[in-house]
Amino acid sequence: MDYVSIRKHYEELKSRKLSLDISRGKPGPDQLDLSNPMLSVSLQEGYCSVSGADCRNYGGIDGIPEMRGIFADILGLAASDIIIGGNSSLNLMFDRISGFCLHGVNRGEPWFKQGAVKFICPVPGYDRHFGICEYFNIEMMPIEMTDTGPDMDAVETLVQSDCLIKGMWCVPVYSNPTGCVYSDETIRRIARLKPKAPDFRLFWDNAYPVHNFGEARPVIPNILKECSLNGNADMPLIFASFSKISFPGSAVSAVAASENNKKGILEQLNHQTVGPDKINQLRHVRFFKNADGVYTHMEKLSRIIKPKFDVVLSALDELNGLSAWSKPKGGYFIHFRSADGNAKRIVELCRGAGLTITGAGAVYPYSYDPRDRDLRIAPTYARIHELKDAMDIFCAAVKLSYIEKMESIKSST
Ligand code: PMP
Repeated sequence: MDYVSIRKHYEELKSRKLSLDISRGKPGPDQLDLSNPMLSVSLQEGYCSVSGADCRNYGGIDGIPEMRGIFADILGLAASDIIIGGNSSLNLMFDRISGFCLHGVNRGEPWFKQGAVKFICPVPGYDRHFGICEYFNIEMMPIEMTDTGPDMDAVETLVQSDCLIKGMWCVPVYSNPTGCVYSDETIRRIARLKPKAPDFRLFWDNAYPVHNFGEARPVIPNILKECSLNGNADMPLIFASFSKISFPGSAVSAVAASENNKKGILEQLNHQTVGPDKINQLRHVRFFKNADGVYTHMEKLSRIIKPKFDVVLSALDELNGLSAWSKPKGGYFIHFRSADGNAKRIVELCRGAGLTITGAGAVYPYSYDPRDRDLRIAPTYARIHELKDAMDIFCAAVKLSYIEKMESIKSST
């Protein structure tokens, strides 16, 4: 690997004046097309749910039973555990935190009144989780993400030591961005946590439970049940959505929780709305029919998504020895780890050659990656030929950043 030939290759790529984007985990248009028949599902003949409720009207605050049933089957829960939300699960998470800050957890003391509250954030993690914390001025405490989930020794020590630690973000299946699936042991340790704060809540964001590539769907322990067996029935709040199943802009979301928590959620919801968009729920139910319908749809999606991951992963092979990356079996992201101190430079070099990637630091709270090394690649939105060009640029940028660093070390010694 010599500087002159790598620079030359990079300049050639730059001269092509490409404009490519692998920054956000958006479904490609070809994925969205698979749900197009949902747009012509006719509700003219029947716009009532199985409960007899007229979906055109107000009411049904917790969602129609058949939509709750589909979520329940996908998540391994009971329909009665579930409340249906609007199009975005992030919205439900935001609302929970907003309610806890202002009114406390189930009528307890508001978080805002208790002092500088904190959340545990496994890193690398999801930038929008961190964004919610920043918005509410919640201090974020990064802990390391391992191949089997968060570093549980660190989590246990922290939650037992500080009553201002009020929450933890978890993406248990195909975590964003590492793609790891939490091990059963990790999940059981999470369920056994003994937080010092009685109003500690687990934000269990199960965004990708059915987003596997061909192989068997991961089955994880039921966090509601596990927590309940350990005297923590009220600890978990489980979130999910159809954003990466149907249309992210008009999907259906859900939150599942204990009776106490559901009561708190419904109390807030009853002040927020006279009823959710049940027509959209009904449209989803008529299109997917049941959980098996969802699994069949996901198989079709994986036939589009997996080849894109394969393109990225095989391109990355030429960086063997220079960096490390995750090889997820599902989900939406690949986590890329460069040599220390190179991530910002890689992003800059990519941008210089017309490729937008997620900003360096984005996978850390406050966008601060202390070792400037972790990046996120989102393969789904670009088309295959664009991905090939994007990865050409990315690999050239990684090599160039690496060799620049070597040269600068040499010249300074
Ligand atoms: N959680 C995770 C872990 C995600 O990756 C995403 C989408 N990138 C979301 C939530 C957003 O979900 P929704 O569209 O339902 O708000």
